[in-house]
Amino acid sequence: LGAMGTEEPVAVYDPATDPHRPERLSLMSDLRKVLEGAPGVHGELELVYQPKLHLPTGRIDGAEGLLRWRHPVAGPLAPDAFIALAEETGNIRRLTRWVLGAGIEQAGRWQAAGDELRLSLNVSARDLDDVDLPRRVAGLLAAHGVSPSRVVLEITESAIMGKPETAIAVLRRLAEQGIELAIDDFGVGQSSFAYLRRLPVRELKIDRTFIAHLADSREDRAIVRSIVELGHDLGYRVTAEGVEDARAIDLLREMRCDHAQGYQVGRPLSASAFLSLVSSRAGVEA
Ligand code: C2E
Ligand code: MG
Ligand code: MG
Ligand code: MG
Repeated sequence: LGAMGTEEPVAVYDPATDPHRPERLSLMSDLRKVLEGAPGVHGELELVYQPKLHLPTGRIDGAEGLLRWRHPVAGPLAPDAFIALAEETGNIRRLTRWVLGAGIEQAGRWQAAGDELRLSLNVSARDLDDVDLPRRVAGLLAAHGVSPSRVVLEITESAIMGKPETAIAVLRRLAEQGIELAIDDFGVGQSSFAYLRRLPVRELKIDRTFIAHLADSREDRAIVRSIVELGHDLGYRVTAEGVEDARAIDLLREMRCDHAQGYQVGRPLSASAFLSLVSSRAGVEA
């Protein structure tokens, strides 16, 4: 399966960690231009789609949309190279607006074509301060004819910690509209079950650090098995992130984990490569 994937773009330089380099300033103003839709630059942003394998059926039933910035000079940049920068410079909301627009438009194409696929999109902590977010998402779903239950928004545990009351209100309003919520990178944040209990969450995504050594580590197997059980007891679906080998898929299936995502299932792909993978794999066991 790995052979079907495109290469992951590699960010060679991380301006977010280096406040003094001139590249940081220029990347910041480049990002602003891209988001303002200056002529010729809008096409630099792209969503790629990483398949999610439904373990009980062996079918790919969804994807996570991941942002890429094809910077003309710096080359393809992974989000770690510019999301933090966008957050610091107040551009994250506009970036998220672009992601939601592009993602929900894509989900609309899938739904119109009769493909039963769910799309997960990432939102940042700063997006959850935005009381307009639920209305904006509702508008996009209506505009593109997408059922809310086909869209999952991924948040990290730390996203709720900043302004918890606003974040919880925004998340509840999204959930009332039928949009599903997932906790991303579960297990590495400052887990607060007190918050989790108050959130309308449908899915936990187990951080890939617990999955990487699953076949070799009895401890990691114990942790993952417990998270799956806890998640199911609380009524959540559970996804394992960063699944890189076939043995981990077998173990996760034995543990009754619901979904697997990672290079073993598929790399992040262009929309058309993703659809080819879905149809070539329909009904095939992993
Ligand atoms: P994430 O949401 O936890 O996404 C999973 C990351 O793990 C992705 O990196 C993906 O390419 C990578 N990955 C997937 N499978 C494997 C695997 O088998 N092994 C390993 N080692 N890595 C794997 P990516 O695309 O670089 O994204 C990094 C983070 O950037 C994401 O973590 C997410 O937090 C953030 N991000 C990505 N797109 C967006 C976006 O549109 N908006 C926001 N706010 N954040 C985004
Ligand atoms: Mg994610
Ligand atoms: Mg994650
Ligand atoms: Mg992550």
